[in-house]
Amino acid sequence: MSLLELHNVDVHYGRIQAINGLSLTVDEGEIVSLIGANGAGKTTTMKTISGLLTPSAGQILFEGEDITAMPAHTRVTRGISQAPEGRGIFPGMTVAENLDMGTYGRKERKGIDDDLDRVYTLFPRLKEREKQLGGTMSGGEQQMLAIGRALMAKPRVLLLDEPSMGLAPQFIRQIFAIITEINAQGTTILLVEQNAKQALSRAHRAYVLETGQVTRTGVGRDLLADKSIIEAYLGVA
Ligand code: ATP
Repeated sequence: MSLLELHNVDVHYGRIQAINGLSLTVDEGEIVSLIGANGAGKTTTMKTISGLLTPSAGQILFEGEDITAMPAHTRVTRGISQAPEGRGIFPGMTVAENLDMGTYGRKERKGIDDDLDRVYTLFPRLKEREKQLGGTMSGGEQQMLAIGRALMAKPRVLLLDEPSMGLAPQFIRQIFAIITEINAQGTTILLVEQNAKQALSRAHRAYVLETGQVTRTGVGRDLLADKSIIEAYLGVA
């Protein structure tokens, strides 16, 4: 049994079908990447897993349980936590308050304090700026804050949607190194990325999405070595 399974999922926006018969699995301990061009359906897939969108067909299983109809907030308390595309931090709240928002539904103070220490160790910049308003942080720092906030929910699976989007190269390397570290500490990760090179080299396995369907799947490094993938997603012949 995989930690997370999607079986033949369809998702519509009104009459527009964005996802068509999508199946994927994420095993405990893995980093799985989802790559694809603009509009392929990556964000739609993430929102469907986190419960912000409801499939029109198919099934989502988490730890073997059918969660297709489970509300988003219940999924968070069950262990599915998303750092959304565009970051979605609260600009008028401090860094510390933003992180506290991530503890929604948790009551064990000791566990929360331990996770705050973990986040501040992963992202020393957030500790330095804990009293600064989120909206005044740089793009890279806001991305760290979004990931940190998602970690404060103590997820079994962390959903990361385009963590490198809009970041300077030194921040991109740093964010991916931290993603690898979070995984090494035991958190399973599903990663959506336009930066296919980083996404494939960091992933255990990957799926290629085209117009709402999985067209390729395999070991991240094998896909990275595939000429057709390189041509399509890395922009070099
Ligand atoms: P990007 O990298 O550009 O974010 P993506 O792979 O994440 O792309 P989605 O945002 O999931 O793709 O979009 C998949 C399809 O669904 C696209 O055809 C898009 O135009 C359509 N779509 C997305 N959001 C909506 C919406 N709110 N209403 C109607 N159609 C939508």
